Amino acid sequence: MSKTAMNPTQEWKRSDHQHYMHPFTDTRELGEKGGARIITRADGVYIYDSEGHKILDGMAGLWCVSLGYGRQELVDAATRQMQELPYYNSFFQCTHPPAIELSTLLSELSPGNFNHVFFTGSGSEANDTQIRLIRRYWDLLGQPQKMTIIARKNAYHGSTLGGASLGGMSAMHEQMVLPVPGIEHIEQPYHFGLGGDMSPAEFGLQQARLLEEKINEVGADKVAAFIGEPVQGAGGVIIPPDTYWPEIQRICDEYGILLVADEVITAFGRLGEWFGSTRFGIRPDLISFAKGVSSGYLPLGGSLVGDRVAEVVIANGGEFAHGYTYSGHPAACAVALETLRILQREKIVERVKQHTAPYFNRRWAELAEHPVIGEARSVGLVGALEIVQDKSSRARFHKDLGAGTRCRDICVNNGLVMRAVGDTMIVSPPLIVEDAHIDELVEKAWKCLDLTAASLEAAA
Ligand SMILES: *Cc1c(COP(=O)(O)O)cnc(C)c1O
Repeated sequence: MSKTAMNPTQEWKRSDHQHYMHPFTDTRELGEKGGARIITRADGVYIYDSEGHKILDGMAGLWCVSLGYGRQELVDAATRQMQELPYYNSFFQCTHPPAIELSTLLSELSPGNFNHVFFTGSGSEANDTQIRLIRRYWDLLGQPQKMTIIARKNAYHGSTLGGASLGGMSAMHEQMVLPVPGIEHIEQPYHFGLGGDMSPAEFGLQQARLLEEKINEVGADKVAAFIGEPVQGAGGVIIPPDTYWPEIQRICDEYGILLVADEVITAFGRLGEWFGSTRFGIRPDLISFAKGVSSGYLPLGGSLVGDRVAEVVIANGGEFAHGYTYSGHPAACAVALETLRILQREKIVERVKQHTAPYFNRRWAELAEHPVIGEARSVGLVGALEIVQDKSSRARFHKDLGAGTRCRDICVNNGLVMRAVGDTMIVSPPLIVEDAHIDELVEKAWKCLDLTAASLEAAA
């Protein structure tokens, strides 16, 4: 037997480096550091690599594997649908049962003013669709000059040109001459990073009022919509103060602009509600979803279209010149339908709200006691840790020390996936985590923070 057949890891790593261009990755650096970890299987809340390491998945894949790995019902739903009808489109006056049933169930689960769904293959495409809907809406109302969309710095709305333009990631803008015209950004409600000595309540109001300033700067007659994630995910689990969203809502209402909630992460139980908007008292006109809707087992996203927009664009707007080959893909819809039915049947959203999240929030808060942690915040089942050199001044470690990525690497080598956003560590475990998994997550995080602190000290 050849060496390769016995342990293909080295062979895979070589081919991976030579041929596979990874998303958001410095390929050369990855190769120099020994290549990528190869994940070969997963079960429940654990993933396993090609060398047999068992790792607690604190990120639910990429925020999406809400029901954990190995759910046979989801595999069966995909298999049945692929045998029956693996693909058909719904462009030319055709439709199929999975898309009908899923759009109906989503309309039932979403807030009362939502009754229509436009399907996409991803969250990025969902947000591109929102741009199309927003501009179409104002155009049909005879106000085509109302086309500016206001978004936030450090927001993440995807990686297509539209999604990356709405997003506020400067590194993405720099590489592509973005945003596209008609998109403006205001500062984010990041209290730990920007709040200074202000109380969270005061700071929340101040950051929300930046929207009003921006509307007046652009001209109220030119502003079409505001888009935000109820809790910023990829930006570092930025949880706005409770004063923030009600003030944003007031401003949107007062100026009559559309409010878009990007719920790609926050929908379907992540914050202990079916929609994160409910948790924060947001009354959106459009909602973007993806990720958890199918538990990540197959790609699916979409826009929930509220009645205000549907009345204009759907009921009276003629043909909406927009669509994707995989809009309403039957197998993806079948898996999403089964995901939502499992969430209902097993009362997982209620359990997250009443039990899992409160337990996680309490245990996560203990990490604030660690000497290198300046803040440990969480809401629902998302959490963040701010790594600092000095707790009272919130001073960071020197940038060249790469405290965040150092901690991330230590975590994965010690059996825990925790993601780094700069020097902010973030988690978003599967919704089905049990107390013992949360204990393991917090205990491993503490131990890895000890190791990170020691490693930073040695490197300084
Ligand atoms: C992940 C994400 C997206 C993009 O979704 P993709 O499926 O990766 O295109 C958009 N918005 C938010 C809030 C996200 O977290």
